[in-house]
Amino acid sequence: MHIFLSLEIKKPLFNSLIAMEKTLVIIKPGTIQRGYIGEIIQRFEKKGLQLCGMKMIQLDEKILLEHYAHLAHRPFFGRIKDAMMITPVIVCCWKGIDAIRIVRAMAGVTNGRDAAPGTIRGDYSVSVQENIVHASDSPETAAIELKRFFNDNEIFDYKQHQLDFLYANDEI
Ligand code: UDP
Ligand code: MG
Repeated sequence: MHIFLSLEIKKPLFNSLIAMEKTLVIIKPGTIQRGYIGEIIQRFEKKGLQLCGMKMIQLDEKILLEHYAHLAHRPFFGRIKDAMMITPVIVCCWKGIDAIRIVRAMAGVTNGRDAAPGTIRGDYSVSVQENIVHASDSPETAAIELKRFFNDNEIFDYKQHQLDFLYANDEI
């Protein structure tokens, strides 16, 4: 009975469905100007996500045309592009189970005025454009966006020592 129970407990029932994901966050120029870099990074750290890459970069027209291609035909595209180039940005790679949807949920909806209190955009912004962070919106875009902003050797896979306390043993 004892053996049966311990086997049951250790059996990784859902392991095949659970995937560690990596996602891209961009800390936008307004966030840097307003002095909230640390607070925003701390939110993801406190949640239990692992920082696998981070750097400050200056965006240019070319990369923004690619990154915001879905908005390139919109009349306000010029101002979004300018706002993203006004200072350097900080690009981060965060890792965790379901990291992509966790980070999107933490960011909140696009318009800071509609974003729920408790979300990053809900707590720090009152604008559609000036909404603190970019966050990848699906596994497909996360993979493309991480490649867009990071070289392979700038993403680090290292042991997260808290792992056993962040997840149950059949989740990791
Ligand atoms: N944006 C804007 N006006 C709009 C739609 C988007 O200024 O009507 C800006 C805003 O900064 C947003 C970014 O363009 O974060 C990308 O838009 P998207 O629709 O992809 O929203 P997100 O995925 O960032 O929530
Ligand atoms: Mg988007």
